[in-house]
Amino acid sequence: MSTAARRAELAANLAALEERIAAACAAAGRPRAEAQLIAVSKTFPASDVRLLADLGVTDIGENRDQEAAPKAAACADLPLTWHFVGQLQTNKCRSVARYASYVHSVDRPRLVSALGQAADRVGRTVGCLVEVRLDQRENRAGVPPAEVPALAETIAGTAGLTLAGVMGIAPLDTPPDEPLGVLAGAARALRAEHPEAVMLSAGMSGDLEAAINYGATHVRIGTALLGMRPTSR
Ligand SMILES: *Cc1c(COP(=O)(O)O)cnc(C)c1O
Repeated sequence: MSTAARRAELAANLAALEERIAAACAAAGRPRAEAQLIAVSKTFPASDVRLLADLGVTDIGENRDQEAAPKAAACADLPLTWHFVGQLQTNKCRSVARYASYVHSVDRPRLVSALGQAADRVGRTVGCLVEVRLDQRENRAGVPPAEVPALAETIAGTAGLTLAGVMGIAPLDTPPDEPLGVLAGAARALRAEHPEAVMLSAGMSGDLEAAINYGATHVRIGTALLGMRPTSR
């Protein structure tokens, strides 16, 4: 596909997405400005990120450092905020801290210390979101809601990091209301202790309306903006 054709496709997708987000905010009685779009560009090339930036997208999400690091480097001239939204291994922290302003998937104390050291070393501050487990099945990502306060304290007490909020991925195969309610409750409890931790990262292409209804401040959108990914990740 030519660059012009891809640009037109992304522009049309972005316009349709913007309508969905605006309608969801209106339905929830929230100002449009309360829901920030994060374009999740995983599996798509840096050229797409460049086109999205040109179309006014300001925030980019990625879930694998091997892919994100070169993409962020290729787009370093653009005024973008990068969000790391995938499972993160401690040995990737040094790389991620170079480009990511936020890590949405903080789920264990060992990751907090590694990320803090990495941020310190590269002279940046990384905003951390505690990933809350919304799927009770075995081996799902995130910490149980009851463990959020302790991990949040650890983040808040670590140099190089700021406590930014909570993130959750509602299971795609069950109605989103119950898990999103759990996440909203965790966000409320966290803000009571840490008023600065205002981010609630929830909502993907399939459930952004429900997430905005439950207070999402950041929606992470891949497919609805960039199209189907070659693999399901
Ligand atoms: C891929 C991904 C998204 C985007 O999902 P879509 O359904 O394509 O919008 C959001 N959040 C995370 C953590 C992801 O890995």
